[in-house]
Amino acid sequence: MSGPNTEYDPVAVTPLKADEVEAMRVAALDAVAAARDLEALKRVRTEHAGDRSPLALANREIGALPPQARKDAGMRVGRARGDVNQALAARQAELEAEAEARMLVEETVDVTLPWDLTPQGARHPLTTLQELVGDVFVAMGWEVAEGPEVEAEWLNFDALNLGADHPARTMQDTFWLEPADGGLVMRTHTSPVQARTMLQRRPPIYVVCPGRVFRTDELDATHTPVFSQVEGLVVDRGITMAHLKGTLDHFGEAMFGEGITTRFRPSYFPFTEPSAEVDLVCFVCRGREPAVHGCRTCKGEGWIEWGGCGVVNPRVLAACGIDSETYTGFAFGMGLERTLMFRHGVEDMRDLVEGDVRFTAAFGTEI
Ligand SMILES: [Zn+2]
Repeated sequence: MSGPNTEYDPVAVTPLKADEVEAMRVAALDAVAAARDLEALKRVRTEHAGDRSPLALANREIGALPPQARKDAGMRVGRARGDVNQALAARQAELEAEAEARMLVEETVDVTLPWDLTPQGARHPLTTLQELVGDVFVAMGWEVAEGPEVEAEWLNFDALNLGADHPARTMQDTFWLEPADGGLVMRTHTSPVQARTMLQRRPPIYVVCPGRVFRTDELDATHTPVFSQVEGLVVDRGITMAHLKGTLDHFGEAMFGEGITTRFRPSYFPFTEPSAEVDLVCFVCRGREPAVHGCRTCKGEGWIEWGGCGVVNPRVLAACGIDSETYTGFAFGMGLERTLMFRHGVEDMRDLVEGDVRFTAAFGTEI
């Protein structure tokens, strides 16, 4: 057998038969439609439109066909490839738009969301009260004085006329620092700041001394071994008990509201003479028939104990080198915890020292 093979039908030669090409086209279009994201579409492009894709391989075979068959096959394959490329471009645009829309949603900033979920810290109400007290006195022209918490025994006791046999000096009340004969204590009151002030400067002296003090008390509802006091000291010419009364009435009003006055009850403190306990008129019943109304705050008394005060003992002035013939003075002191508890109805001292943020948060997040 020689001569041309006239029976040869190129269209019938796979993979260029119409149905084969159509199958490739359909498979490619299905794959394009099924691509869920740009990554998947990239794989579909390589698989169905890349150099090794069935349609590309088919295209390469066209050149080997006789002219007539080449034309038909070329049209078929060309159209199929055009359809696939068009579908790829359309799907590409679609998926890009989707990705962009998703990004916009995901990266949207919701300005109504809380910007910071970390709980905000707040200063302890004792600290803010201490500053408020300072402000009350600074407004009257006084100064705020501070001193060390580890204090010389002499300044803590002797300078304040607390003799060597005074009960407050015993181990039961005072934290002594080692060595035992070193003469250092954790200050048991803020009074040594007054002694330091009198030693350091000449009258007139108008100072208020807020600060932490230490005593060997067990922690319970009304006691804590570390607590805060505020003391005031005035030394000037012609100072009398009337000045003391006026000052404490003003302080009482500043702390507890208008009309809250004080009363003095005779008492004894080594560093003042005469000495008095300071009571506040009950800020709940205002002292009006408290027993009749059964006021719980003052227990029917109409008055609440607040602190101690008195005219500075001349021996204290002398110990600090101040001429007690020329100058007189007054001093007062009260517990800041007690003041805070009255002001805010706190009933248990332990709430003040345990550091539970739920307690301090109730006072607001003043920073
Ligand atoms: Zn009352």
